[in-house]
Amino acid sequence: MSGSPTAPRPPGPPADGDGATAPVETGPQPDAPVCSPPSHPPVVEDDFQFLLCEGCRQESPHLKLLTCLHTLCLGCLSENKPVGQCPVCCTAIPQANGIPDMDNLLFTNLQARLRVYKQITSDSGPTCSRCRGEVALVWCCECEEFFCAKCFEDHQWWHKKKTHKVRKVEELRAESAHQFLEDTRKSCNLFCTSSSHPDQSRVCSIYCQKCEKALCCSCALLDNQHAPFCDIRSETQRRQEELSSMDRELRRRRSGFEATYVSLQGEAARLEEAQREMRELIRQRVEQLVRLIRQEEEELVGLVEARQEQGRRELAQELRHVEGVLRRMEAGERLVEKMSLYATEQEVMDMQPFIKGSLQELQRLQLPVAMDRGQPRDLSECRARLQAL
Ligand SMILES: [Zn+2]
Ligand SMILES: [Zn+2]
Ligand SMILES: [Zn+2]
Ligand SMILES: [Zn+2]
Ligand SMILES: [Zn+2]
Ligand SMILES: [Zn+2]
Repeated sequence: MSGSPTAPRPPGPPADGDGATAPVETGPQPDAPVCSPPSHPPVVEDDFQFLLCEGCRQESPHLKLLTCLHTLCLGCLSENKPVGQCPVCCTAIPQANGIPDMDNLLFTNLQARLRVYKQITSDSGPTCSRCRGEVALVWCCECEEFFCAKCFEDHQWWHKKKTHKVRKVEELRAESAHQFLEDTRKSCNLFCTSSSHPDQSRVCSIYCQKCEKALCCSCALLDNQHAPFCDIRSETQRRQEELSSMDRELRRRRSGFEATYVSLQGEAARLEEAQREMRELIRQRVEQLVRLIRQEEEELVGLVEARQEQGRRELAQELRHVEGVLRRMEAGERLVEKMSLYATEQEVMDMQPFIKGSLQELQRLQLPVAMDRGQPRDLSECRARLQAL
């Protein structure tokens, strides 16, 4: 299991052919109408995505190789923000202007060779690189040019390049792009860079281990400073093997990094999960508290209403009582007044004791303890509960 689907893709070899399928060509751009189906399967497009700039996914003749081994075109690098770091993996670019010194020669040359292959496999076939009119019949792997029959004659005799390795276009058309690139690799030569013969370029076959340079035979023999020598082929092989063994070692170490990556992802997920749980807990607790407070609100409001009802009843009762007393007093006053105005002696003798008894009873009545009837005392429980919330 390499990499979970939710996470960003772990660093690794990019899957060829996924994502945008930018065409590997410099000719007609995507908008150009496609008139006829391609005569060859579009292997070039799918298999050689790796030749594209890893920023804009476009082909470019100016591909730079960064120290992180990502490949970016000059266009992407000059527009790169922030300047001075790889836009893919954020590794610092040591050059002050943010443009690495190292060209990705391999990819640039492969692009050029793929263009040649496309010419070879195009419907009309390649035209002669020399006269530019005739249909080409052969490809000289060393001149890297197409020749028509006539120009090929010149190449063989006039220019004395009979030893050059040439291939028939017809044969090459039948080859796959991969095969073509492999074949052309074998024919590419190193040229001596020695300053002793600046005019001619001579093919190198010897490697000086002291100055770590490829030399042509004459330079190696004439200059006795150079030694020890080895065959250039064995040196390139040694260098390839050096890279391969480092690659094997790194692949072993990579599993360690992958494991760490997975465990970091796990940690991030756990952190996320813990935070989610805590948020949920807070939400639930707050909801519960809100429910409790609402309940308390209802109870307190109920209590206040009950108290109010009780107070109202008590007051009404008292009002009725006091009203009754006042009426009795009024009736007493009226009767006493009428007695003094109109009563006969007989009536006084008969009724006075009864009236006296009633008035005595009225005299004994106390004034009700007004005020202090109380809301403050009755609602104090509510206040206390409110405070305790
Ligand atoms: Zn680019
Ligand atoms: Zn990078
Ligand atoms: Zn020609
Ligand atoms: Zn040639
Ligand atoms: Zn030389
Ligand atoms: Zn040397």
